[in-house]
Amino acid sequence: MMAKETSIFKSVANLLGHAESGVALTREDIITLLKLPGNYTSALFAAADRVRKEQVGDEILLRGIIEFSNICERNCLYCGLRKGNTKLSRYRMSEDEILATAQGIKKACINTVVLQSGEDSFYNACSICRLIERIRRETDLVITLSIGERNYDDYKSFKQAGANRYLLKHEITNTAIYKYLRPGCKWEDRIRCLIWIKELGFETGTGNMVGLPGQAVEVLADDLLFMKQLDADMLGIGPFIAHLDTPLAGIGNGDLDLTLRVLAVSRLITRNVNIPATTALAALHPQGRLRALQAGANVIMPDFTPEIYRSLYDIYPGRKDVGSATKIIGQLEKEIHSIGKTINYSIGQRQISKSV
Ligand code: SAM
Ligand code: SF4
Repeated sequence: MMAKETSIFKSVANLLGHAESGVALTREDIITLLKLPGNYTSALFAAADRVRKEQVGDEILLRGIIEFSNICERNCLYCGLRKGNTKLSRYRMSEDEILATAQGIKKACINTVVLQSGEDSFYNACSICRLIERIRRETDLVITLSIGERNYDDYKSFKQAGANRYLLKHEITNTAIYKYLRPGCKWEDRIRCLIWIKELGFETGTGNMVGLPGQAVEVLADDLLFMKQLDADMLGIGPFIAHLDTPLAGIGNGDLDLTLRVLAVSRLITRNVNIPATTALAALHPQGRLRALQAGANVIMPDFTPEIYRSLYDIYPGRKDVGSATKIIGQLEKEIHSIGKTINYSIGQRQISKSV
């Protein structure tokens, strides 16, 4: 090894050693890790994988997701569900359909359900609460909501009705880019929602997309520091994938390697949080999900949305979970076993005590 290479190797090894042992990383450290030369990324992923093993173990948690409405009143530039996309056929699932689907999740021995939708005010606080109460009563599933921005009283009533977790990605920390990408929305409003969600005692999920226009590595570092600062319990980190029927058609997709680096650094800095290998990673690359499970992720969210609706939840192209729920779980089991891991069917709550 040349002298210069040896010294880079030593400083990278030093930084990764610190990160692995839980020493807080500065913004500069994070930028260095996100920019590591390609031949060092496997060392970054291996460090994140060891921290994942030490903090949350070797088993992969499953959360069954039901995408119950693709109707959205927002117009996010990146998303195929945006209200300006007039090419998309829209659907709403009835309460009974959602309940029957939740029962299917329970039958598959999965104990948590994620209810996700566009921002669709047709489902008002009352109807969401009734749904939560029925799911809790009839299936006892732990419920995660992912239905966007609501007012404080709505969140409070969801909690009182029995919802346990809430997922609201902050998407990007740069307020100017946020404003451009989400017309009519303010970053501060979304963060206020996240603070309410935390204060109300939900297990809180946030996260970002990687590869959004104008999102330099420095912005990604700020995204990561935000996730750490919020002390989120779950993180959703996925590549941006361009949808043809949106204003961002033609912009390149997020990069697999960079997305995995962000995910790996998130594991190093947040330690014991639950981090899914996102559907978007699987859509971007055939090995995307498995590689994420070897770079710090510990959760998979199989899609239980009834097949008649699934292709209409068209956020971005290339979504992979096709066929019946049984087929999807069978496929996942194979994938997970192929990397020497097993599925854990418990509710998989964040274990706060192990954090550094
Ligand atoms: N409407 C709710 C919201 O926005 O929070 C929940 C549903 S929304 C479809 C769920 C997530 O999809 C968003 O948080 C965003 O990160 C992700 N998403 C939307 N468009 C995407 C795209 N083109 N590529 C990757 N992820 C995308
Ligand atoms: Fe609607 Fe969420 Fe898509 Fe934005 S990201 S258009 S809020 S579904």
